[in-house]
Amino acid sequence: AKEKGRGEWEFFKGEMNEFKVERLTMESFLRHAISKDELSLYFQPQISLDDGKVIALEALVRWNHPRLGIVSPGLFIPLAEETGLIGHIGRWVLNEACRQLKKWHETINSELSISVNVSGRQFQKLDFVYEVKEALQRSKIDPRFLHLELTESMMVENVQYGINIMRELKELGIKISIDDFGTGYSSLSYLKDFPIDILKIDQSFIRNLSKSDHNSTDAAIVRAIITMCKGLSVTALAEGVETKQQLLVLKDYGCDHVQGFFIGKPVCAAEVENLFHTYHTK
Ligand code: C2E
Ligand code: CA
Ligand code: CA
Ligand code: CA
Repeated sequence: AKEKGRGEWEFFKGEMNEFKVERLTMESFLRHAISKDELSLYFQPQISLDDGKVIALEALVRWNHPRLGIVSPGLFIPLAEETGLIGHIGRWVLNEACRQLKKWHETINSELSISVNVSGRQFQKLDFVYEVKEALQRSKIDPRFLHLELTESMMVENVQYGINIMRELKELGIKISIDDFGTGYSSLSYLKDFPIDILKIDQSFIRNLSKSDHNSTDAAIVRAIITMCKGLSVTALAEGVETKQQLLVLKDYGCDHVQGFFIGKPVCAAEVENLFHTYHTK
């Protein structure tokens, strides 16, 4: 779907059937998405380059509307942010991800982590830390298995506030991951003040990596980020890995973890259980 003028959203369902949805209609659809059970989570593996084992699964929200079909989170998350519905959706995602992980600890792997995306407005909410605490208590998972993916852009408005919240989150025992690293505007100097565990190198830097070109700008940036991670004792995770070449180059550069279509696409919960063993043997 793509945004059109005058607040209309144009959708393409199937091949040709196009129809338009007013923004307000869209908003009201989204308002009822949770109670109508239209939201679900997909999961994508993050693996270790040392042994190929799955370290964590990133939870990615999906919205399946009876008329609109699957609506991309790239579209409805911004709408949820603007309308404040993100509070409701974000809390649902957090609780559902933790609940699912608890189940998998008992059935597939007791060391698996879950990585949950946090939006800017959700992070700014005064009771955000409390919500995380509640999700941990409700699901009874060990906090070290919950990773929260934050972005640099969430910190720009009030860096000190951001650092304080991160510290409170760390006190709960969870891990903090910086998503889309390298695309934001925050200063590198903040990095030393952020209590970060994992740094996700944005896929835009990974896309053009190749074995025959170690001199490209992207290759230099990726190597620099990985070196910096080592210096800061932060785990380097490359996202958007789509080819074996990219994987081999990243391994060569000493990257710790990778995620992307080459390793595994996001899948529904039932499929995670089936696929789990093939991820191991890749
Ligand atoms: P993101 O957090 O950067 O997530 C990565 C996106 O890249 C996902 O798209 C994923 O499916 C896709 N991806 C994974 N591997 C590859 C690859 O190898 N190549 C390419 N081209 N793409 C890959 P998705 O699921 O459509 O999510 C888009 C964005 O929506 C996410 O970007 C995130 O910002 C947001 N989002 C998704 N789920 C949630 C959620 O539960 N809460 C919040 N606040 N935001 C979410
Ligand atoms: Ca993410
Ligand atoms: Ca990302
Ligand atoms: Ca992104």
